[in-house]
Amino acid sequence: MNTSRRVIPAVALVAAAALTVPALAACSGTSGSGGGDAKGGGKLEVTASFYPLAFLAERIGGPYVRVTDLTKPGVEPHDLELAPQQIAALTKADVIISLHGLQPAVDDAVAQSGVGHTVDAARLTTLEDHGTEVDGRHHTTGDDGSGGASREDAGSDPHIWLDPVRYAEVARGVGKALEAADPAHAAAYGRNTGTLVAQLGALDTAFRDGLRRRSTDTFVTTHAAFGYLAERYGLVEEAINGLDPESEPSPARMKALHDLARREHVTTVFFETLVSDRTARTVAGDLHLRTDVLDPVEGITDESRGRDYFAVQRGNLAALQRALGVRS
Ligand SMILES: [Zn+2]
Repeated sequence: MNTSRRVIPAVALVAAAALTVPALAACSGTSGSGGGDAKGGGKLEVTASFYPLAFLAERIGGPYVRVTDLTKPGVEPHDLELAPQQIAALTKADVIISLHGLQPAVDDAVAQSGVGHTVDAARLTTLEDHGTEVDGRHHTTGDDGSGGASREDAGSDPHIWLDPVRYAEVARGVGKALEAADPAHAAAYGRNTGTLVAQLGALDTAFRDGLRRRSTDTFVTTHAAFGYLAERYGLVEEAINGLDPESEPSPARMKALHDLARREHVTTVFFETLVSDRTARTVAGDLHLRTDVLDPVEGITDESRGRDYFAVQRGNLAALQRALGVRS
């Protein structure tokens, strides 16, 4: 089990953030020139904790918002640490959108920010515990009881945005929050939310139809990010190592993966763009499988297969169609 490796940095991050916030609050008190007017040039200042939430705010807010993404492109959001100036900026936001449980440093800073309009995306839809965050194994239909992997409370799978249906629920909640924070532009926010939800509905249909004529349900990933997506479309995600995609699987795990790959006609080991592909290549080499990218859309970089959420998700659909042997 590598749970302790996850816990220690999280505690360290929270402690670091807790130490930083009071110092900055004191600083801004001395330099404050009073009046929060004209911040953002009259635009609603929205701070989002990572790309999928920033994308919603940009699409729904349009020209009336200025969106700051706390997670810079190319940074793995699970590992985010906040710079002092980011924590300071957070306290001046009109609206903060985050996803509780994904980024401990952000959770702590949001709690201390004093900002009135805070949105927790985790409360806008339903979260499940897929177990993969903790022990690297996927449980779709319940454990057989022999696993012995104790699940942590914090084990709820945060990757809700990869399921277009759940992401649409989050979009509706973000729309409502922007309307509440900026009633003057509520009609525009409502219209934009409707458009975005319709686009997510079309994406859902594309996945549903596009995966219908598949040869197998099972795909292998290095990062247990696709549990909700798998469940939505009747697939099975087998994560090599849960949330620690760069560690080597044990010989016993390799044997289990080998058996699974043969039994379920797995063709492909997926890796992602923000972490090393070394483990994926090692496992694929040992099992004589291909590798390909399945992107958890946790950030957009030059290496992403598209420039926004929709483009990357359509790339993911194409990759799944290849891996699952979809017949045309
Ligand atoms: Zn993730």
